[in-house]
Amino acid sequence: MVVAVRPRSRARRRCGICRSRCPRFDAGAGRRRWRHLDAAGLQLFPEADAPRVSCERHGVVVAAVPWARHDAGHTYDFDQQVAWLATECSKSATAQLMRVAWRTVGAILARYQRDADAGIDRLAGL
Ligand SMILES: [Zn+2]
Repeated sequence: MVVAVRPRSRARRRCGICRSRCPRFDAGAGRRRWRHLDAAGLQLFPEADAPRVSCERHGVVVAAVPWARHDAGHTYDFDQQVAWLATECSKSATAQLMRVAWRTVGAILARYQRDADAGIDRLAGL
């Protein structure tokens, strides 16, 4: 099931990497889909335009969306559920239950861990 979505006006035209407000560059490669949590047993795919912005620090990049990480094909909610499931059961069971490839579970966990580590200084207090 595909659902058309779009960011609110305050969340539009932001750099996908640093989230700073940037001027629009072009329309990008058209519409893009992300995998979201299933709804009523159906796979749910939010679909939105993916324009590019011109960031002073990062150059021309795809604009950020508030529901997914930059360069990710899954939403925050989907990543969070996969990460939680992976802590409670095996990677194979997680992949089967979430209907993704075994390798995708690993990629999601790496992304999730990278975000979790970004706000933590492991040497603080030593
Ligand atoms: Zn940037």
